[in-house]
Amino acid sequence: MPACAQTAWNLLVARRYPVSLIHFVTNKCNARCSHCFLDFNEENRPVKSGTFPLILQADPRQRPPELSLDEIERIARSAGPCLSNVNLTGGEPFLRMDIGAIADLWLRRASVRTLFISTNGGFPQFVLPFAQQLARTYPDRRLIFSISLDHFRDEHDRYRRVKGLFDRALHVYRELANVAPNVMATMGMTISRVNYESANDIYDHFVDELGIRALTIGAARDEGVYRTPPELRERIHAAYFNLSERLDADMRSGRLQGYQRTNLAGRLLNAKNRLVRQPLAYTMRTGGYVSPCHAGSVFGVIGEAGDVFPCEILNHPYGNVREYDCNLMALWRDKTARTSRRWIRDTHCRCDYDCAWTFNILCNWRYQPRLLLAALGVDR
Ligand code: SF4
Ligand code: SF4
Repeated sequence: MPACAQTAWNLLVARRYPVSLIHFVTNKCNARCSHCFLDFNEENRPVKSGTFPLILQADPRQRPPELSLDEIERIARSAGPCLSNVNLTGGEPFLRMDIGAIADLWLRRASVRTLFISTNGGFPQFVLPFAQQLARTYPDRRLIFSISLDHFRDEHDRYRRVKGLFDRALHVYRELANVAPNVMATMGMTISRVNYESANDIYDHFVDELGIRALTIGAARDEGVYRTPPELRERIHAAYFNLSERLDADMRSGRLQGYQRTNLAGRLLNAKNRLVRQPLAYTMRTGGYVSPCHAGSVFGVIGEAGDVFPCEILNHPYGNVREYDCNLMALWRDKTARTSRRWIRDTHCRCDYDCAWTFNILCNWRYQPRLLLAALGVDR
């Protein structure tokens, strides 16, 4: 069976292999954002060992080491035939000096077609050569960068606690546009208690004054040590819904470009981002169930020390891939993973974790006609 047909069969019918993985390459970060899920109390550093959210361990020496290149290579080789997307994130992934080698292993040793990289943009000196090198080596793959930008310049630097971060992130976004046709960059704006009141003005500033043309919107969610203040939850969500609607309207009118419409992946990503809004909003507003969640079957999360989870929210670890000699599919097929998947299905597990929603849309027959129209370029 051709690879794309096998992936489609796996997404829509079999759901045996991961199609997308998030790999937290490190939990170190140069920033200290107030909505971060990591705990940066220096005496009480986090380890993602055995559970997500994080277990806190007082002694940093007890933290297990990050996965080595050799271990990542074995994980990539054993990730199954359908893995088409990997998201490298952290912490700040460019604080790992071997990030280029990690990306290369996923592209070379697995069937990955699209590499997502989430960054706060603080290290243009690493990000741009990384993009240039990978784009040259893999002209047939897509590299998509999501760069965090949530506020006006001074406020952004203040609440992320890094002077000059706003300017560096903007520089990275602009420069990535010129690297190569297979490199895309988008600004990721997270709505939280620090920006929800000015979200509309910030958005207009980004689009009208900074000329940002590709933007995604997310709402800070309860994860790790972060909790949305309960008294603000409704207002933050309202700002998020309002801005999402504006973003959709601006994409339709051409004020925003979104991902490149000239290629299939860009059109599908734009369509998926639109389709995800309605069910996500329903679950956020009512807590209600819309459709099965496929986290843990076609999608999963690898922590920096090898712990594997179905998603970032659920406290059902599949185990540590080191205990399986770094054979990811051996872990994926084992009893703990099968029990967790059954639990997710039988309890109608639901939440507002947008990464999993991406695959809940792609795995659902109901959305296929709209995705097909988008693929053909007739549904904006
Ligand atoms: S840049 Fe990301 S990982 Fe770093 S502190 Fe901010 S939210 Fe956390
Ligand atoms: S519904 Fe949410 S918490 Fe449950 S498995 Fe899916 S992503 Fe995880």
